[in-house]
Amino acid sequence: MEKIQQAARIIASSSDVLVFSGAGVSAESGIPTFRGEGGLWERYPANIYANLPGLAGVFLLSKDRIASFFSDALRPLVEAKPNPAHEALARLEEAGKISAIVTQNIDDLHLAAGSREVLEVHGSAYRVRCSRCGSREGRSRKDINDVLDKLDVPTVSRRQMISALNEFAGKCLCGGRYRPDVVFFGESLPMDTIEEAADRASRCDCLISVGTSVLVYPAATVPAIASSCGARVIDINPTETTLSSTADVFVKMEAGKAMPAIADEVLRMTN
Ligand code: NAD
Repeated sequence: MEKIQQAARIIASSSDVLVFSGAGVSAESGIPTFRGEGGLWERYPANIYANLPGLAGVFLLSKDRIASFFSDALRPLVEAKPNPAHEALARLEEAGKISAIVTQNIDDLHLAAGSREVLEVHGSAYRVRCSRCGSREGRSRKDINDVLDKLDVPTVSRRQMISALNEFAGKCLCGGRYRPDVVFFGESLPMDTIEEAADRASRCDCLISVGTSVLVYPAATVPAIASSCGARVIDINPTETTLSSTADVFVKMEAGKAMPAIADEVLRMTN
C-alpha cells in the first residue's frame, strides 16, 4: 500500500496530471491485450493481420479465417463495459485532478466511463474515416454486431462479405469510401491528436502510465516527452515496463485494483 500512497501524494500535489493508457487498462473488462499470453497476435500474426494489405490477402486465401479474426478481435470489444480503473480515472477528472487521457486503445471505454478529455491516438473502433476527404462518422456497437453476424454465417460467400463490409463502412458525401478510423501497422497517427498529446505531455507536471508496455511508437514518446520536460512519472502495471525502473513510483498491480485505491487516496488528501 506504500506505493499507492506515494502515487496518490504525487497526483495530489501536481497541478497538471496527464494519463497515458494502453490495452492493459481494458484487460479487466474482458478485452485481451494483443501481445500478452493468449493475446490476439498469438493466433493471428501481427505482421499479417495488423495491416490492410495483409487482411486483404487473408480474405482472398480464406474467408473463414478473416471472419474468425474479425469476430475474435471485435466481439470482446463490443461486449465490454468500463471497469473500476476506467471509472476511477473518470472520477479523478471530474474532481479536477487529471487534465486528460491519451489512450492507445480503440475501445471507447474511457468515454463510456465518463471521461471527457480523451485523445485516441490510435483512433476508435466506433468511427469510420473517409479515405478521400478525411471526414469521420460514428458507428454503434449494434452496427458492429450486425456486420459480425453477417460474416459469421458458415455459408456466406466472399461477395456477400464484401457487400456487408461496404454497407457497414458506407460512402462519404464527397464520393470517397469510408474505412475504419483505426491506425493499422505502418500507418501514420492522426496528426492533430498526436500533436495535442505531445503538447500536453510537454506541459504536464505528472504523467500516469497505466496498462501499457510503452513499446508501441510513436505513441510511446508521450511519456518520454513528459519525463524529459520534468514531469514526475507513475507507472501502473502488473509487469515491468520500459518505464518502471526510471519512474518515480512503480505500482506493480492490476489497473482495476490500483486505480480505485489511488483515486480514493487522492480524493481523501485533497478534500
Ligand atoms: P500491449 O499489449 O503492448 O501491453 C499491454 C500491457 O498491459 C502490458 O504491459 C501488460 O503487462 C499490461 N497489463 C495486462 N493486464 C493488465 C492489468 N489488468 N492492469 C494493468 N496493466 C495490465 O498494449 P499497448 O501498450 O496498449 O499496445 C498495443 C497496441 O494494441 C495499442 O497501441 C492498442 O492500440 C492496441 N490494442 C488496443 C486494445 C483496446 O482497445 N482495448 C486492446 C489490445 C490492443
